[in-house]
Amino acid sequence: MPEDATTKIRFSGGIQRIGVSKTLAVAQAATELRAQGVDIVDFGPGEPDFPTPDHIKQAAHRALDENFTKYTPAAGTPELRKAACEWHARELGSRYQLNECIITMGGKGGLFNALSALLDPGDKVLVPAPYWVTFPEVIRYLGAELVIIPADESSGFRLTADALDRAWSDGLRMVIVNSPCNPSGAVVEKEEYLRILELCRERGAWLLADECYSHFVYDSEPFSIASALDSKPHVIIGASVSKTFAMTGWRIGYTLAPEPVIKAMNKLQSQSTSNPNSIAQKAALAALTGPMEPVQEMLAEYTRRRARIVEGLNDIPNVTCIEPRGAFYAYPNVGEWMKKNNIATNTEVAQRLLSEAHVALVPGDAFGTANHLRLSYATSMERIEEGLRRLNTFFSA
Ligand code: PLP
Repeated sequence: MPEDATTKIRFSGGIQRIGVSKTLAVAQAATELRAQGVDIVDFGPGEPDFPTPDHIKQAAHRALDENFTKYTPAAGTPELRKAACEWHARELGSRYQLNECIITMGGKGGLFNALSALLDPGDKVLVPAPYWVTFPEVIRYLGAELVIIPADESSGFRLTADALDRAWSDGLRMVIVNSPCNPSGAVVEKEEYLRILELCRERGAWLLADECYSHFVYDSEPFSIASALDSKPHVIIGASVSKTFAMTGWRIGYTLAPEPVIKAMNKLQSQSTSNPNSIAQKAALAALTGPMEPVQEMLAEYTRRRARIVEGLNDIPNVTCIEPRGAFYAYPNVGEWMKKNNIATNTEVAQRLLSEAHVALVPGDAFGTANHLRLSYATSMERIEEGLRRLNTFFSA
């Protein structure tokens, strides 16, 4: 493997195949401008703007007071693994036992460990575009082969079994479905999801379902493919308390999968990071065994914001925005404006928006589409109004 041209250090092939998360790059640029005193409207962050609910924070205080500050089993405490299974069963209709669950370092840690446990170099993984930035990067890191299902805006970016069938190729090992989707907000319909599962079952591929936004759905009930009868041998569920309970900084997620997969992930976790933070595990336990009202309150607020931001974006000339069905992102198409203004990439649009309009957002290039921008509406209604005003001025010029 060649040396890095500037540092002369020989990095591994895996590390050379990946880049730093583009969403974090935007955050950095916005932070630098803010440090110079510029008022930025920030549609960048992929995290709730709400504080972690009080009863969860109190559980962490108690954990500290009770000196719950030592190693736990690498797979997480049995009580939290059990609570995660029970929450998932209660809320989403699955049927997992403790030994089919591992507590991970956020949803991201679970995804990384699951893919590391299952993929060999050259294995093919299907990912529909637009996709969450991390999927392709981890696949590349592992030397596996990324196969992308092209984005279809006309169907609201919703993955269909037919599209999956068309994109299928021999030797496919895994399909990743993220519903609700970051960045598009698309939610795969239940019937369609069952057909997708059927294809994976028939053809012997894993279906990895990323459910990080499961409870932020606007026009339907939360749904997990793990509620389908006999789904278990084919399905891996990636879940997290980060978004649902406004706990992004606590770094707790969990994976539900057949026991041998959990054992393999545990082996890796035990030799890499060991257990997720013990205090955060107690906090997550309070989240998963406590009231769901705080989540419903957050959803009600996101619902109001979604209506306003989608309306506001569609009022801007040469900008169109489909209605997100879940998560907390709007994904407007600015292709018309780019054509009229001779701008080649949405990265350039995002850079100009930051420097000229002082609006931070993430270009769709990061998610595999050329004409879009991602705006997180996990920010206050006042900032949404101000941001829409600035976007209107920018795109009307
Ligand atoms: N999956 C998706 C689709 C996400 O958007 C995110 C976070 O942005 C994650 C997983 C990871 O979440 P966590 O903060 O729990 O690692």
